[in-house]
Amino acid sequence: MPKNIKHSWAEPYKMKMVELLKMTTPAQRKRALQEAGYNTFLLRSEDVYIDLLTDSGTSAMSDRQWAGMMLGDEAYAGSRNFYNLEKTVKEVYGYKYLVPTHQGRGAENILSKILIKKGDIIPGNMYFTTTRLHQELSGGKFEDIIIDEAHDPDNEFPFKGNVDLNKLEKLIKKYGAKKIPYVSIATSVNMAGGQPISMKNLKELRALTKKHGIRIIHDMTRVAENAYFIQQKEKGYESKPVKEIVKEICSLTDGATMSAKKDALVNIGGFLAVNDWDVFEEARNLVVVYEGLHTYGGLAGRDMEAMAIGIHESISDDHIRARVGQVIYLGNQMMNYGVPIVHPIGGHGIFVDAKKFLPHIPQDHFPAQTLAAEVYQDSGVRTMERGIVSAGRKPNGENYHPKLELARFTIPRRVYTQAHMDVIAESAARVYERRKQIKGLKMVYEPRYLRFFQARFEKLK
Ligand SMILES: *Cc1c(COP(=O)(O)O)cnc(C)c1O
Repeated sequence: MPKNIKHSWAEPYKMKMVELLKMTTPAQRKRALQEAGYNTFLLRSEDVYIDLLTDSGTSAMSDRQWAGMMLGDEAYAGSRNFYNLEKTVKEVYGYKYLVPTHQGRGAENILSKILIKKGDIIPGNMYFTTTRLHQELSGGKFEDIIIDEAHDPDNEFPFKGNVDLNKLEKLIKKYGAKKIPYVSIATSVNMAGGQPISMKNLKELRALTKKHGIRIIHDMTRVAENAYFIQQKEKGYESKPVKEIVKEICSLTDGATMSAKKDALVNIGGFLAVNDWDVFEEARNLVVVYEGLHTYGGLAGRDMEAMAIGIHESISDDHIRARVGQVIYLGNQMMNYGVPIVHPIGGHGIFVDAKKFLPHIPQDHFPAQTLAAEVYQDSGVRTMERGIVSAGRKPNGENYHPKLELARFTIPRRVYTQAHMDVIAESAARVYERRKQIKGLKMVYEPRYLRFFQARFEKLK
């Protein structure tokens, strides 16, 4: 018997329905890019071959989730799907009280309004666009307390989502614990490249915040992916199912905002979940103003049913191994071609280091935005910018200049095949080969909020 035959993973599902894709020519893509102002967010999805813009709301639902859609109870109040979702959130994540919202930012809006007062400081393990904006709109100021390693795309530290406790202690000393309503902790830090936080770090953070009476609010958008990395990389968790690790993570925090469009395998939905009755009561008051009644929060009954089923599917070891396995496969292919990517490979996508890819383009000429446009031109693969455009401006009007200037190749869950991954890696490699001829962009239209969604650019000559 040959000994070194490897044991490959494969998808724990098979296809029952397919969606046909349009193939485009280079000339069609050139025109589409011009019309979109070189912003991949402004491309028509029809003109995209493989869509890696985001993993948000782009996952394939299972036959069970689709069956659940047919069980939608569309009563205005007290839908049975709400009670099923409430039971699922309690059972799987352990939070006591649930307020559904139309998506993650709906929960962020309500939570920020309740907990943040003008002049408050909100420390967090790297910012997220909508999260920080809601904190600022409520009068708070975000302070990044992620470890320095997270800002270095080459550092191989396995838990680059960790909090630097010294940075937090300094903030507590400087402002006092009363000015810090909560620490904002993301599991699998999106903006750092899908990097996980370790259980050890989270436990230490819990001990420190407990001492000062500070809450931890958990951005649990990618908690299952974080739990998988803990299982794979943290001592003592090798044989624990992802499901148990997820619950342990949640137990170390006081409440959570969730964009169910990511880990929870639905096309729309989110929630706020808290353990504190007072916060819950206030959230129920606010949800009717901004989202809808507290038993639907802007969702249809069928959406809540699909979410409840998706939550259960998302924490299965087989699912998450294949999900992250596909991302790692793509990352390895890119590395084989010499394309510079963020290390270690994260959970939801490959983040290409645009500063290294296009070192001749200064950050103010938008290297990552340029890279995303070039990859689309090459193959019809749509990626997006996570760099200076996404970082936006400070309250005083100056541009943030983030250390990381990345093009994100985000993989939707259960949607594409390994052959698609090969096509993507080859396209990135082709653009890399002609990188020296690539010039940057200039911004010709800038919206006031979250500019990366709608900004327009022109090619520099
Ligand atoms: C997507 C996302 C959000 C916001 O959720 P939406 O559903 O897009 O409103 C918040 N935090 C993180 C980490 C996210 O990835």
